[in-house]
Parts: sequence; structure tokens; C-alpha cells
Amino acid sequence: MISYQIIEHGQPLQKKLTETPKPQGTEVLVRITRSGVCHSDLHIWDGYFDWGGGKRFYVKERGCIPPFTLGHEPFGIVEAVGKKVKGVKVGQKRLVYPWIGCGKCAVCKAGDDNLCVSGSRFLGVNRPGAYSTHVLVPDPKYLVDTTGIDDAFASTLACSAITVYSAINKLPKVAPKDAVAVLGCGGLGLIAISVLRAKGVKNIIACDIDDAKLAAAAKQGAKSTVNTRAPDAAQKLQGIAGAVDLVGAPATAALGLGALRKGGRYVIVGLFGGELTHPLPPIAQRAISIQGSYVGNVQELKEVVALAKKKKLKPSPIETRPADQANAALEDLKNGKVLGRIVLNFETAQ
Ligand SMILES: [Zn+2]
Ligand SMILES: [Zn+2]
Repeated sequence: MISYQIIEHGQPLQKKLTETPKPQGTEVLVRITRSGVCHSDLHIWDGYFDWGGGKRFYVKERGCIPPFTLGHEPFGIVEAVGKKVKGVKVGQKRLVYPWIGCGKCAVCKAGDDNLCVSGSRFLGVNRPGAYSTHVLVPDPKYLVDTTGIDDAFASTLACSAITVYSAINKLPKVAPKDAVAVLGCGGLGLIAISVLRAKGVKNIIACDIDDAKLAAAAKQGAKSTVNTRAPDAAQKLQGIAGAVDLVGAPATAALGLGALRKGGRYVIVGLFGGELTHPLPPIAQRAISIQGSYVGNVQELKEVVALAKKKKLKPSPIETRPADQANAALEDLKNGKVLGRIVLNFETAQ
């Protein structure tokens, strides 16, 4: 199989030819046709997350050690199955749920693999991922049928859509007139606007520093847009019921938290990096909450897929590029040149 691998963090990925694994027991081998390029791939590529104050979290501490294959938005065709596999057949197209836990702990048994407490097996994070012609999946329960959805769009549901869906599920109950801010209008932000609309939220305020991204957000269904570099940005957001922060930088956190009305909730998803300094008394006095959200569980992915099948998710712009452009895709993403999402096509990888 062909994979584009990190050989050294921060250096261009290298194309490697390795032996294609043979699925055993409950394992399923999926031949990848589409593989989404996610912003968090950039952090794994760099090798660390910025924790602010000069501190870093190195991905090697959670098992991402080069040579390593990125990619956690895998979509493809079942190529081979282990002897114990039931419910899926060779030749079927499937989306792969990548946030696979140990499968044994109580949290995994409850279906929350993404919150596994004893050894996660996240594809493209600490297990070989989808920048590859093949991915080995431990169990068919992590495969989702997306018939009727465009293959490239389907791949992006595995991370960007499930992530915003799970984050939006954590917002307080909002009435139709209540305002919800979406901080950051890249790939995730645009899908967040779709999910909010599908859930009946109409007063969506899209926030970004880039006017082109704000224009895309308005097209996607945001009611209003705020360029957060404008001096009156904080004022324009005052009184929001909730904020979904898809950037996760000190500036967006300060903006989102500072604009919450009483009882409001700030949900942080983005991993841009940095640290938060906030006065403590108003958190209590205003009964506001800070909630973290990390990807989502298999059930949430199935719910997202169901929404997409009903055409209730407006796909954000997707650009499909040949797999051998993986490095250029990462560079463009790093330089903020991507509107929506890049998906790599592995069908023609050779
Ligand atoms: Zn991702
Ligand atoms: Zn577990």
C-alpha cells in the first residue's frame, strides 16, 4: 500500500510503499478512496500543540511517533474482512469512524470511544491513518453506510461534521431568537452553521478575521457576520446564548466568554493553542459555563450522516485533489488559503 507519512515532524510528508495488512478476526481492511485534510493534521505534522506560556504538548506522548501516517477522515471500499466479521461485505463503500477507543473499558462499552480512558486507537492520531491507500479498522461497528451522500463530503463528516455536531449538542437549549456565535469560519465553521440551522437555530453570528470566509459563512446561512478585528466586534456579540469556538485561541476565547449572556455557554473545540486568563467571579455571578468538546461518538456520527442523507447539511465548499498533493494541501491549509475543505483522492494514487 502507498502512504504519505511523517518521517520527521514539520518536514514534507514522504510517499512510502509498505505491505498491505491482512485483516484478522473482526478487522476490516478498507481501500481508501477519499481522505479529508483537517486542520488538526497540521498540529500532528508539527509534532506538538501550543499550550501557551511557552508550554507545548508533544504528540509523541500520546503515541504518534514517526514514521506516521496522518488522516482521520477516511472513506473507502471494503477490500477484505477477517473471519469474524459480520454485517459488512467486500465491495461496500463505507465511511470509517476514526475515534476508536480500546474497545474494552466501560467508557468504550457505553459507546463513547472518543472519551476512552485506557488507550485510544485514533486513526491518523496514534494509529496509521487515511493518507494512505489502505486503512485497517478493528471492527465493522466503526463503519457507517453513507449511501446517497457524495463520497468526498462523506469523508469530512468523520471529523469536521461530527466535531461540530457534538459541540452544538453541548450548547444550552436555545430559543429561535437566541443568538449563537460561531467563532472561526473555516471548514468547521461552515458546517457548524449548517448543523445549527438544521437544529432550528436561526440567529447565527459568524465571526472571523477574514472577509472572504465571512462571505462564505453568510452564503452558508449565518444571519450576520462580524469581523473580529473590528473595534466594535465585542460589542456586536454582547448577549449571545452560546458560542462555539472553532479556533481556540486566547482572542477567540476572550471574545466568546466575554459576550455570553447570563446562563450562556462557551464551547471550545479549536486547538489553535494558547492559554486563557479570565476573572473568576463573573463565571459564578453570571452562571456561565466553559465546556470542552472533542470529536464525537459513533452514534453522533450516525446522526450526522442521517442529517446529511436528508440534505439538511449544506456541504461546505470541497476541493478534491490528487493524493500526491498532500504536502501542498497541508501548506495551503497552514497559510489560511483553504476555503472549506480539501479532500485527497486516493483512487488514482500510484
Ligand atoms: Zn480533524
Ligand atoms: Zn476504552
